[in-house]
Amino acid sequence: MRFRHRRLAVIGLSASDEHALTAKFLKVGANDFLTKPLNQEEFYCRLHSTLNALDAERQAYQLANTDYLTGCWNRRYFFEHPLAKQHNPDMCLAVLDLDHFKRLNDAFGHLAGDQILKSFAKILTEHFPDDLICRFGGEEFCVLTETDIAEFEKQMFQLMTKVREKVIHWGEHYITFTLSAGIATGSADTQRLLQYADNALYRAKSAGRNRIKLAVTNQTVLDIN
Ligand code: GH3
Ligand code: MG
Ligand code: MG
Repeated sequence: MRFRHRRLAVIGLSASDEHALTAKFLKVGANDFLTKPLNQEEFYCRLHSTLNALDAERQAYQLANTDYLTGCWNRRYFFEHPLAKQHNPDMCLAVLDLDHFKRLNDAFGHLAGDQILKSFAKILTEHFPDDLICRFGGEEFCVLTETDIAEFEKQMFQLMTKVREKVIHWGEHYITFTLSAGIATGSADTQRLLQYADNALYRAKSAGRNRIKLAVTNQTVLDIN
């Protein structure tokens, strides 16, 4: 069975009386080392402290790489991800931004705004379970995928429909919301794709929001809504 290093701890165990053995084990990456004969109480203490250290490392990783409100990956995780570093001409990137979110905050309060963000993140992550999704900040999210552009467009339209149909019950209010998106694909690195998708998003906003615009990386821009 294979484990990522964050999920695996190694405790060395030996009956050898070689004094340097402990240091040798620790230097090659073991988390702890015990010598036989074992004292049972010491064994459980060491086991607990190793498991606690593993937990603390996992928590630190979560805090550093995810967004506290929505649980989505954050910007830092996104740019460090192998998918964002590879140069694949079939890659598609979408930047999604909720429409008139400030108005929603103003009308229903910041907590309602937070609830909208959480609901949207849930819809988004369930809709694209195999793709790299991150919250870039505020009410802006990003999807990076190797799905081909025709299929991805279709999935994005389905997402728009799900979002339009979502009703959030907030006190006596029924809140609905929409999003705009820019999609880019083609032979460019992730930073470039992001720029193109951002431009397309800007155009979706200017054209009235609640729509998707597609930017192709040779700078031809196509309207798909
Ligand atoms: P547009 O349709 O052009 O995108 O307009 P907008 O109102 O969505 O965009 P704008 O950039 O004017 O406002 C974004 C708002 O999002 C302002 C900010 O207070 C709010 N916001 C950012 N992060 C959070 C958050 O974590 N929670 C809540 N409730 N609001 C947030
Ligand atoms: Mg917005
Ligand atoms: Mg925004």
